[in-house]
Amino acid sequence: MRPDVLNAYFAALTDLPGIGPKLARPFGRLLGKPEGARVLDLLLHLPSSTLDRRARPTVAELVPGEIGTVRVHIDRHQPTPPGSRAPYRVYAHDDTGDMVLVFFAADRGRMEHMLPVGEDRWVSGTVQLYDGIPQIVHPDRVLDDAGLARLPPVEPVYPLVEGLGQGHLRRAIAAAVQRTGAEHAPLLPDWGSLPGGPEFHAALAKVHQPQDTADATPAGTAWRRLAYDELLAGQLALALVRARTVRKTGRPVVGTGALAAKILAALPFALTGSQETALAAIRADLGSGNRMLRLLQGDVGSGKTVVALLAAATVIEAGHQAAIMAPTEILARQHLKTISPLAEAAGIRVALLTGREKGKAREAIRSALAAGDVDLVIGTHALFQEGVGFADLALAVVDEQHRFGVHQRLALASKGEAVDVLVMTATPIPRTLVLTYFGDMDSSELREKPKGRKPIDTRMVAMDRLDEVIARLGHALTEGRRVYWICPLVEESETSDLAAAEERFADLKQHFGDAVGLVHGKMKGTEKDAAMGAFARGETRILVATTVVEVGVDVPEASIIVIEHAERFGLAQLHQLRGRVGRGDVASICLLVYRRPLGEIARARLEALRESDDGFYLAEKDLELRGEGDLLGTRQSGLPGFRVARLEVHGDLLERARSEARTLVAADPNLEGERGRALRLLLHIFERDVAVRLLDAG
Ligand code: ADP
Ligand code: MG
Repeated sequence: MRPDVLNAYFAALTDLPGIGPKLARPFGRLLGKPEGARVLDLLLHLPSSTLDRRARPTVAELVPGEIGTVRVHIDRHQPTPPGSRAPYRVYAHDDTGDMVLVFFAADRGRMEHMLPVGEDRWVSGTVQLYDGIPQIVHPDRVLDDAGLARLPPVEPVYPLVEGLGQGHLRRAIAAAVQRTGAEHAPLLPDWGSLPGGPEFHAALAKVHQPQDTADATPAGTAWRRLAYDELLAGQLALALVRARTVRKTGRPVVGTGALAAKILAALPFALTGSQETALAAIRADLGSGNRMLRLLQGDVGSGKTVVALLAAATVIEAGHQAAIMAPTEILARQHLKTISPLAEAAGIRVALLTGREKGKAREAIRSALAAGDVDLVIGTHALFQEGVGFADLALAVVDEQHRFGVHQRLALASKGEAVDVLVMTATPIPRTLVLTYFGDMDSSELREKPKGRKPIDTRMVAMDRLDEVIARLGHALTEGRRVYWICPLVEESETSDLAAAEERFADLKQHFGDAVGLVHGKMKGTEKDAAMGAFARGETRILVATTVVEVGVDVPEASIIVIEHAERFGLAQLHQLRGRVGRGDVASICLLVYRRPLGEIARARLEALRESDDGFYLAEKDLELRGEGDLLGTRQSGLPGFRVARLEVHGDLLERARSEARTLVAADPNLEGERGRALRLLLHIFERDVAVRLLDAG
């Protein structure tokens, strides 16, 4: 179904001259396509830097540390004496001075052929100064005049893997550029994008065969054009998904406000301005004929749950059902606990459905849901995975879930006739990433913190002062404080994490006896509940935990959190963990215990955390420190990453790509017009063809 004009791009790499099965293997590894890379993969493998060979200094003008391309007269060879490890030296000069060319393990015959005494040659390489005389060790190039004429002014330098050299890359890419150029393949129709930029193939050629260093840098016009194309492809895919999801439904849901009023009356606080604003936007979505696809972003403790509940109340007022899906069992129960008293005050019928509800209990809930006897169900993934039927589901809230791709969103939305979807994120996501991965969604942000929150005193403590930490904890316990002790993420393996947690547990028990509890991911659900419950009730006062407490757990009495090996956590995760405290009346403390030596980035992370408790700020900082793939865990979730676009350089293009994509889809929803057909090619090129399939499915 891929249009034929793309054949040259999608041809196997081995179709290129000079790439046989043997080279295909390292190329496959390099390009992340071990099963066989295509010409396109190679073309989208862009340089990491350039070598500028335009300088033509005289010998006297050679600058140490820089690349010089200089014409010299070859005077004499000084071969390595037998049995010595001294280098092979070639002495040369021009009118301005002498220089030396140095080679290790050189073959005399080859050297004399390459640098014949009495002749002139161009040599190009990085200049050094040795004993006051300029020298080049292993020149990159030794050329005669004819060779010099063919020397590219600027050479791209590519990331490599073992088994490949720059020469392999340059030759293969030159062949690929040629193969896909006008002579060998029909020219792609240009889908048009950044004004003033070259068309697609010309842009590729420019980046790979730069005339100027700027041509091969991300900020250059050619690279920007390609980045824009890639961003546009991504946004186009999202816009197509959005158009289809939003369009499929269209039942306006308007509440009476009666249940919401009762909930508000039962709340011990007033909503913040951001909560009000978010809620108004949600109600407008619900009330419109289009399906809602909205992202609710808020820092830890910013009060997303109440917003979700009030949104649910709106659809329940209109006689429909709502579901809230949490990522973990613990969190689902936590939600139930928070929501139950409020729901009761409003007369909303609530049920819990997780993997743990079994047998008769499960059947009872399922039939109540199917019969419409439950208004609001709270649960885990089990809610949507196990053929649970609803009488009339109108709103699905997905909590703390940002590892969510377009596919999953489609699956979720297909569960009900006209389900409106609200996704709540655990921690704020940087603006650029919201556009990248949630460009199909509208977004609300809870930037304002509920009143009365006390700042958390965050400190960095080296591991070798752990004794002091433990002594201080003893003191804190006598004051009646409660403490989370988060154990290090040792390795990928849960077992070793567990061992570390158990060891710390045993250790703390020696100091504090039965006041210490333990909770970890390997425990059975009921054991976890028991451990959490004991801590919540104050029966245990120090809770040693692996990161299972990370998301959402609410024990307002906990006012100290110790994070061991803090340097191993990501910034967002640390912020999330820290948010477990600072929920009650007492001023809270967060101790970031790190092991020396602390790397530069780890230190920057911990310092950022010490200086700020604004999740939106920290999210931007996190992106800056570790790059976007990592941040969203995109690799694990299979979200497509970027090959060409660099968000730190091309972030400004995202907004534009998004609005252009939406305009294009609004004008030509099936991409059937001339421009639309060109845009389909774009989707193929950047492997967003899932969206093309969506088009074809109608
Ligand atoms: P999030 O899910 O955004 O991390 P929660 O919804 O769990 O935050 O809310 C954190 C705490 O703040 C809860 O105890 C909640 O009752 C309380 N809360 C929510 N909104 C407000 C508000 N407007 N004023 C005061 N407290 C609030
Ligand atoms: Mg929450």
